[in-house]
Amino acid sequence: MEDTVLVVNCGSSSLKLALFDNRLQKQASALAERLGQDDAFARLGHEDTPLTLPPGASHSQALESLVEVFRERGLMSSAPVAVGHRVVHGGETFREAALIDDSVINAIENCAALAPLHNPVNLSGIRATLSQFPDVPQTAVFDTAFHQTLPKRAYLYAVPEAWYQDWGVRRYGFHGTSHAYIVLEAARLLDKTPATTSIISAHLGNGCSVTAIRDGISVDTSMGLTPLEGLVMGTRSGDVDPGLFDFLASKGMAADEVHRSLNQRGGLLGLSGQTNDMRTLCELADHGHEPSRNAIDVFCFRLARYIGAMMASVKELDGLVFTGGIGENSARIRQQTIDNLEIFGYKLSTDLNNHHGEYSDGRIESAESRYPVLVIPTNEELMIAREALQLAENTPNA
Ligand code: ADP
Repeated sequence: MEDTVLVVNCGSSSLKLALFDNRLQKQASALAERLGQDDAFARLGHEDTPLTLPPGASHSQALESLVEVFRERGLMSSAPVAVGHRVVHGGETFREAALIDDSVINAIENCAALAPLHNPVNLSGIRATLSQFPDVPQTAVFDTAFHQTLPKRAYLYAVPEAWYQDWGVRRYGFHGTSHAYIVLEAARLLDKTPATTSIISAHLGNGCSVTAIRDGISVDTSMGLTPLEGLVMGTRSGDVDPGLFDFLASKGMAADEVHRSLNQRGGLLGLSGQTNDMRTLCELADHGHEPSRNAIDVFCFRLARYIGAMMASVKELDGLVFTGGIGENSARIRQQTIDNLEIFGYKLSTDLNNHHGEYSDGRIESAESRYPVLVIPTNEELMIAREALQLAENTPNA
């Protein structure tokens, strides 16, 4: 049995595990859902039969059960050699992944005010894994770290400066692990080095963000203080007029209700009144459902506007990349977005766009396009496993 690397991603009521071998080939994955509730359950890989968890199972109990299942199936004979954790907010403290010790745990706790829904739950995963594998080096990989290279002009809001100094109000950006992976892959496909690669990376999943990457580093991104800013997402509104808050208050809406509506009832779901799932929306639009068509139009137009805005942040451009569930799978959304960007000289090949999976270089632009356009599947788990293994190998006692 080979050495393994375990990747842990804790959501508020979920736990995702991925298991890699020491050559970073993925061996298994597992997902526990509805944690803390009576009907908590888990699933291994794509198996249909759910695994039972104790009613009300905690993150820690789910971790124990799933590790036990990995062992029973012969996927993991001993403790992993490294564990990597996805952590949402690293504030200005973390510019890169960090080997977890007490001071790192304290720093993640200190960033919790910036991500109250995410950091505490990420920490519960860290604590559960530390108690299960106390001697294994564990690494925190932050969604915000890749964006710590943003220049001031891109991260400062035009608000009283004391808000930044006293409370850390600035743009942080998220999805950093995905955008960082994308620039490595883009460089490989374009036969360049990451440090000389400049791209615009559009990560379009349930959460969506666009990042401008100049010479391998993030120089602008669409998400801000929180992951609510920017593009239209599954249930998140993205940008709205800040004047909306005052207006809604005058209508009697409390702050927490505004927060919930913009985060959970906005975006594609809010506009369509039907679903946050882009594939279903496309089907509904094809059947003449007007609100679904509007949702798609607003999604693609906002995305095109942001890609246009990101053009101001790159001096040269090696390519525009689509990734995430929507970016990787929807030729329609890619086409409609690019149609809004003709002024910049982007042009897709209909054939390549519709059949990109059949070509290994990821390219979907037509011969007349001013810039390459690529579809690259993202792989945040692999990126986390890679960082965790690297830091573990550099640990003297590992
Ligand atoms: P998450 O951000 O939760 O990881 P994903 O990256 O898996 O989400 O993206 C999920 C989104 O991708 C959903 O809106 C889903 O409908 C969309 N998607 C997946 N396949 C297609 C497709 N063929 N056409 C349109 N949308 C798709």
